[in-house]
Parts: sequence; C-alpha cells; structure tokens
Amino acid sequence: MLEMPTPSSATDPEPCLYSQAELEWQRKARAFAEAIPVPEIVACDRENTFRRDLFEAACRQGFGALPFPDTYGGAGGSYVSFCLVNEEFGRRCVPIMSSLGVHILCQEPVYRFGTEEQKRKYLVPSSSGKYLAAFGLTEPGAGSDTAALKTTARLAGDRYILNGTKVFITSGGAADYFIVMARLEGAGPDDDPNGARSITAFIVERGFPGFAIGQKFDLLGMRGYATCEIVFNDCRVPKENILGQPGAGRKVALSSLAKGRVTIAAQCVGWAQGALDGAVRHLKQAHDAGLVDDNLNGLAYLLGELGILVESARALTLAAARAIDRGESDSLLAAMAKVQASDAAMRVASEAISIVGPDGANPDLLLERIFRDAKAGPIYEGTNQIQRLLIARQLLK
Ligand SMILES: Cc1cc2nc3c(=O)[nH]c(=O)nc-3n(C[C@H](O)[C@H](O)[C@H](O)COP(=O)(O)OP(=O)(O)OC[C@H]3O[C@@H](n4cnc5c(N)ncnc54)[C@H](O)[C@@H]3O)c2cc1C
Repeated sequence: MLEMPTPSSATDPEPCLYSQAELEWQRKARAFAEAIPVPEIVACDRENTFRRDLFEAACRQGFGALPFPDTYGGAGGSYVSFCLVNEEFGRRCVPIMSSLGVHILCQEPVYRFGTEEQKRKYLVPSSSGKYLAAFGLTEPGAGSDTAALKTTARLAGDRYILNGTKVFITSGGAADYFIVMARLEGAGPDDDPNGARSITAFIVERGFPGFAIGQKFDLLGMRGYATCEIVFNDCRVPKENILGQPGAGRKVALSSLAKGRVTIAAQCVGWAQGALDGAVRHLKQAHDAGLVDDNLNGLAYLLGELGILVESARALTLAAARAIDRGESDSLLAAMAKVQASDAAMRVASEAISIVGPDGANPDLLLERIFRDAKAGPIYEGTNQIQRLLIARQLLK
C-alpha cells in the first residue's frame, strides 16, 4: 500500500539544515500567511489592488528589514531566514510578497553604498514600514540590456535633473521612494562606447517635482502590486540623493540584483511547494475516496518527479542564500537557483492544475494564481535565458 505524504510533511524543511532562529522566522511567516483569508488574497488579484496595510503589518513582524542589522531598524536575521519567509509567502500567494522582495532589494544598495545620512533617512523608516521602496531600472528599450537605458540625469547647481520613463515597476504606484538608474552626463570616461560607465543610481522620492506615475499595468499574473510606469519630466533630485559614486550605477544595481535573484528563487520554491501541496491534497482525497488506485491511476511517477523538482530547487536556493550569509555573494549560484526554481515553479504549477483537473481553475485553491504568477519568475530580475548565458560565461572562465 502506498504511503501518502501529508502536505505538512512535504513542506517542512529538514530541521538540521536550518538554525532555530531561521525556523522561528519560517514559523512566523507561515502564521502570517495563513492568517490572511483566501478571499482577501483572491480579491487583490482580481481587483489588482495593493494592500499597504498588509505590507505595514509584515514590517511590524520584522519582515521589512529582516536581513539588515538593528542599527538601521533591521532584525539582524540571516538571508536564509528571509528566503524562508519568501517561500512561505509564495506558497500562500501573500499579496505583498513581491513588494517585500523589491523593498529589501532597494534597501541593499542604500545599506552598502549609501551615506550615513541616506541610511538614517531611508533605511530606518523602510524597516518600520513607514516607507515602501521600489526599484527603477527597466525601460521600454532597456530590459536585459541595462547599458541601453536612456533616462538621463544632469547636474544643475545643487540638484540633478532627471528625464525618462521606467516600466514594469513593482510597487511603483504605491512606493514612497525609488532607486533609479539614469545616465549621468559627463560621468563616464571617453573610452566607454555604450556609455555603461555613465549609469548612476539615485534615490528619488515620490514627491520630488517632475516625478509622475504613468500607466498602471494590468498583468496576467503578479497582480495587486501597483506595477506601473514611473516618469521623470525634468524631475528635480537634490544633489545629496546620488547613491554611490557617479558612474557606479551598474555596480549598485547588479550587486543588489545578485541577492534579489536568490529572493526570487525562494518565492518560486514557495509557488512550486504551494502547487505541489494542492496536487498532493487532491490525490490523497481521491485515494481516500477510492477514486484512484495505489499508483494514483498512473500519476505516482509524475508526483514523485514534481517532489524532486521542488526539493532540488530548494536545495540550490539554500546554497545560494548560505553563500550570501557567509559574505560570499555568489552570482553563479544565485543565477542557477533562480533558473532552477522558476522553471520548477512553472512546471509544478502547470502539472498540478492538470492533476487536479477542472477544480484547478478554482481561484480559492490558489493553483491558477500560482500558475499565472509563476510566469514572472523566468522573466524578472534578469530573464532565465540571460542567466543561462551568464552561467555559461562563468563556467568558461
Ligand atoms: C511582474 C514583473 C515585475 C517587474 N518588476 C520590475 C521592477 O520592479 N523594476 C524593474 O526595473 N523592472 C521590473 N520588471 C522588468 C523585468 O526585469 C524585465 O522584464 C526583464 O529584465 C526583461 O527585460 P525585457 O522585458 O525588456 O525583455 P528583453 O530584454 O527585451 O528580452 C526579451 C526576450 O529576449 C531575450 N533576450 C534578450 N537579450 C538576449 C540575449 N542577449 N541573448 C539571448 N536572449 C536574449 C530575453 O531572455 C527575453 O526572452 C518586471 C517585470 C515583470 C514581468
């Protein structure tokens, strides 16, 4: 007789892989996620509305600056802990999961490259949830090729003047400040044909003159994240809001994204686990009701394969997060984890819907939501095609 795993035994990580503190963060995140009624999760998706109250509640739990030291309001947790939180949030489609990931992505460069004044001004209120941050890199003609970005900045007296448009900005419609990459006039050296070394990072507040919210996106998945365009029309940014050195914008962006990809991987593990849970629950009920045989009417091998996909994605994500915690932020592992986990999430979500059948389209089961959201995994913070190229390049070094 086949022993059916219970959803909880399938989802609890092997305790010895994690410290007690990390498991405590996981427990807190699971409790937070499970306390949100499913109809609320479904409504955010359907109505494409951003839940600021949930973001603030998450920050009160310490998730808003989890991996940063308490000097700046952080919780001093490991990156592994933050990944466990993201996994739990992904599993339950917590409506502010992606905003939280981007929020931490934005705190990272302020923490690493910011002045003490910038850290006090932006990090501390970000930790408490008073401020929400968003990341402005992508432009209509510059996604994978970040060197092609066209947003400009020029120094005029005691301020920079920014002009340009950024697209697909998660939390864009709700954020209080933005980490923005722009091409700074005169910053790059003469021997810089594509101008990559003129790209510079800025902290832009929502209220700065010349800043505007553009089109709001109504996406297939990842809805409810206030994803929109942000527009700079002679936007006036005080001189002290440059982040890092003039011309160091790609370094600022790419070093944050290397960590961000591990966050994405953890979210994808969560989606994959959530989808697997749904398939297991369905098959267990069908088996208990005598509707499927011990071989699950031929689906046992598939279920086993999906379990392996989830666990291998989790293992690679853990390895990448542990590297961050050792201070060895490893872009190769981060890229591998992001590709593996996002491909796994797509496959498991798709198969889970097939296993569950027509009920797979029931929004309350969250499976179709996971299926739609998971499509973003292979695209954002660097497409999987580009990640594979980067991995190949590093292997050939
Ligand atoms: C839900 C969502 C949220 C997002 N949030 C943010 C955000 O908060 N901030 C932000 O700045 N951006 C955000 N993005 C944008 C995202 O990072 C970009 O979509 C992504 O980097 C890809 O860029 P692109 O869409 O311009 O595609 P392109 O770069 O135009 O790529 C199109 C296709 O061509 C492939 N391709 C491109 N170049 C190559 C190459 N050299 N070799 C092989 N294949 C190649 C790509 O892999 C892809 O399949 C978000 C996107 C989504 C979908």
